[in-house]
Amino acid sequence: MSKLFKRTKILATVGPAVFSEEKIEELIMAGVNGCRLNFSHGEYTERDQQIEWIRKAAAKKGRSVAIVQDLQGPKIRLGEIRDNRLDLHTGDQLVLDHALTEHDGGMSVPVQYNLADKVKVGEPLSMFDGKVKSHVVEIVSKTAIKVEIENDGFVMSHKGLNLPDTDFGGDIITEKDMADIEFGASRDFDYVALSFVQSAEDINKLRQILLSHGSTAKIIAKIETKKAIESDEAMEAIVKATDAIMVARGDMAVEAGAEVVPIVQRKLIAMCREHGKLCIVATQMMGSMVENPEPTRAEVSDVANAVIQGADAVMLSDETANGRYPVETVRAMKKVILYTQNHSHVSPINHEVTGDYKNYDAISSGVVQMAEKIGADVIVCQTASGATAAAIAAQRPKLPIVTVTSNPRVAGQLALIYANSAFVRPYSETYGLDLAQELKDNGYLQVEEGHSDILAVIISGHKDTAGGTDTIKIARI
Ligand code: PGA
Ligand code: MN
Repeated sequence: MSKLFKRTKILATVGPAVFSEEKIEELIMAGVNGCRLNFSHGEYTERDQQIEWIRKAAAKKGRSVAIVQDLQGPKIRLGEIRDNRLDLHTGDQLVLDHALTEHDGGMSVPVQYNLADKVKVGEPLSMFDGKVKSHVVEIVSKTAIKVEIENDGFVMSHKGLNLPDTDFGGDIITEKDMADIEFGASRDFDYVALSFVQSAEDINKLRQILLSHGSTAKIIAKIETKKAIESDEAMEAIVKATDAIMVARGDMAVEAGAEVVPIVQRKLIAMCREHGKLCIVATQMMGSMVENPEPTRAEVSDVANAVIQGADAVMLSDETANGRYPVETVRAMKKVILYTQNHSHVSPINHEVTGDYKNYDAISSGVVQMAEKIGADVIVCQTASGATAAAIAAQRPKLPIVTVTSNPRVAGQLALIYANSAFVRPYSETYGLDLAQELKDNGYLQVEEGHSDILAVIISGHKDTAGGTDTIKIARI
């Protein structure tokens, strides 16, 4: 059975290209384990619609699917540009004015954030995903700054700005984010992603805000600023504070230089595995499939490398949100994941676990070793909080982890975690065993050729409480 089982998960951004119940269902049937809703664009009514479609499709498939609310954070964007295009040339001077409501066609453009009290003369500012580079030459007024353009190019309405050296004073959760968090807290989100995280402090702050709204969502720290990756210590502090990491390669390349991305990716994946945190590799994984029906060799290699490095999940952005071939992209990605996992090992890491996580690590490494030694077909995990299932996944076992929980939120969160398939059932002492039997009966767990039954290692606690894991059982089903 394990040959067909995809251990690295796929997180797909949903958008205009898949804006219907049928399309969302096709994505999930093709192998999507989680959907990202990008809060940089769109209306709340559309969000509610998408959440409903995703939940319906997941229920139809009988599988848990994670829903991620991705907050815009301090991503600064231009306002409306006349005729949606402004050509720029080397040496041009451009004014970015927060007080401006309209672009008159000249060299003063509206910007959605007041940069005047944040930037300093000389600091770099790039626009349109790094396509146009410039630097600040003057603070013109209380609301406006002037930059000098360094290359020929053009900008369009609402394109993003990057200010890699500007200090935003620890103030990265914007008013828009606050409103979006409040909206999200009453909706069905399993994760909240925070853009442009600079330090662990940002994560602690978001956690307080989420708690104050009664949200049960886990936090994804998007790593894409220079500050977040300035040292291994800085990265590790964020990994420790957060529940999950996204290697946000798109903005990271613009902010810190594309050449740093592969090394940062390797480091972050290893750190997440060491601390039992979820790690997502994001952006341009199959970027050419926005236009083309097949990925490039480099893209296939990129996805395979993320699998070999042991990422929990790989992400699609424009490919599924705006591309011409959303479903084909998911299928292509799944094919690469399956082939790679079946022909390669996940790279080992230096596994030096300390602190609170030690107990989970001790139990989970024991379980995985035992399961692999006795040739088990599946690890079944009864869990209340999901922590035990996540700890087992952190060992990157070769066999599937089937999890049963009474909490749909936990099941949604586990959907993005390596090798995990989570099912929601009302709590009972024996629900691990019962689920394994059910999955065998309906063909989800296939008996290996020459065998008459399935060998399962079942891990459970005596009560339905977090941290109560105390029983390991071997069962033939
Ligand atoms: P974004 O984040 O798509 O929200 O910008 C991911 C990235 O920057 O890579
Ligand atoms: Mn980004």
